[in-house]
Amino acid sequence: MKVPEFKSNSHNREYMAEYVASVGMEVHAELLTQTKMFCRCTVAFGGEPNTRTCPICLGLPGTLPVPNRKAIEIVLRTAIALNCQIAMDSIFHRKNYFYPDLPKGYQVSQYGETNPLGYYGYLEIPTKDGGYKKIKIRRVHLEEDTGKLMHMPQGGSGVDYNRAGVPLMEIVTDFPPDIENSDDAKEYLSQLRAILIWIGACDGKMEEGSLRCEPNISVRVVGTDAYGTKTELKNLNSFRSVQLGVQFETRRQVAVVEGGGTVAQETRGWNEANESSYLMRVKESENDYRYFPDPDLVPMKFDEAYIQSLRESLPELPLSKWKRYQEEWKLSAKHADQLTNERNWAEFFEEAVSLGGDPQLICNWMIAEFSAALNEAGLTARDSFITPKHLVDLTNLIKAGTINGKIGKDVFAECFKTGGMPSDIVKEKGLTQVSDSGEIQQVCMSILEANPDVVTRYKSGQTNVKGFLVGLIMKEGKGRFNPGMVQETLQEMLDR
Ligand code: ZN
Ligand code: MN
Repeated sequence: MKVPEFKSNSHNREYMAEYVASVGMEVHAELLTQTKMFCRCTVAFGGEPNTRTCPICLGLPGTLPVPNRKAIEIVLRTAIALNCQIAMDSIFHRKNYFYPDLPKGYQVSQYGETNPLGYYGYLEIPTKDGGYKKIKIRRVHLEEDTGKLMHMPQGGSGVDYNRAGVPLMEIVTDFPPDIENSDDAKEYLSQLRAILIWIGACDGKMEEGSLRCEPNISVRVVGTDAYGTKTELKNLNSFRSVQLGVQFETRRQVAVVEGGGTVAQETRGWNEANESSYLMRVKESENDYRYFPDPDLVPMKFDEAYIQSLRESLPELPLSKWKRYQEEWKLSAKHADQLTNERNWAEFFEEAVSLGGDPQLICNWMIAEFSAALNEAGLTARDSFITPKHLVDLTNLIKAGTINGKIGKDVFAECFKTGGMPSDIVKEKGLTQVSDSGEIQQVCMSILEANPDVVTRYKSGQTNVKGFLVGLIMKEGKGRFNPGMVQETLQEMLDR
């Protein structure tokens, strides 16, 4: 049947039944290793085609692969972070199929229920109502990436094997799927990506293809048990496209069913430009890859002590920090989120708090002044002059009333430029806040005397002119007057 056209932002239509989507997520992540999975070729994005290859990753006869220990360790650490069970004995399999980007004619991968390095795990995602939802993970396994086919400007196609043999981790959610809408799909991917970057497993660059997500989607009528036929989506290279892709595919399938048709088992591509999916190929049946244990690779065996040492080496994960910042330091969910979206940033915050900083004040300065300054300078927290100690010093000066918030901003700007300590700058420049009531009274008095017309307007009910007077007084005090005392003194005088 002909599928009606859908725009991604079309309104919900009236349907005969209510539908629910089921979304499985298959994520491939290129690992942050120096070298490839089974040879010593360099791993790096880009480069002249076929310059990072050797007889092993080109699959020439007579070569033997040697597994990359670091890659195995990264997958194990990820599996632990994703609450998986660990396969203490595990082997590599050959997944056999023919395609020009696969030089050996098979991909080294891991097959089986409990053979993948990690299995039966879960990832927690925050939900809109402030709770969490567990997304079950079926497996986390290690394999190798393929090469890339390229269409040549002069016609024909070439193949670049620079990527062939790059360590690749595959993370697959469990069936039946826990993800039932596009928001959860996006949140899952976002949490997963954050964890992978956090623990140094992958750089998470979706636009460069080092993190790739292929969701499979099916729909069924609410209340029924039978899952619908699923389609798989490819070419999604941003969070937004994953979210829009799942939305589109859900709507498309519902329309097919509502129109009396049946959803075909297909692989569909995502067209970023017109925000729709298109048919790539129809899957007549599951491919038979003839998986078998790779005879060139020795079985892996891990002991409890090794796994325990990996477990202990893992940093606290973002979601755990997010929860803890709210519980321990009473920060808002939004603030906790802004502090935990990057590991260095969160660690900077915690270091400042451990040095005696007030958590809320440190947080305020980090997400406002500090973030803005870093953005403008194009720096990260760790390569700027500002250290946790600077922020603690600055916020403590403000908290103690030594300087006011406005002077604090000037002092911060100076620290950011020179790396000087806030208390030194305050001392050198004589920026200490003036809380001497005699001096403040004197200036208030002289400003009122110099502006009798403004005072008259105030007395006649235009109370908003008070701000103008405060401004004049603060200016006279070169910004160093205690603003609370200025407000109070002025009010007293005006009320006389
Ligand atoms: Zn190689
Ligand atoms: Mn795979």
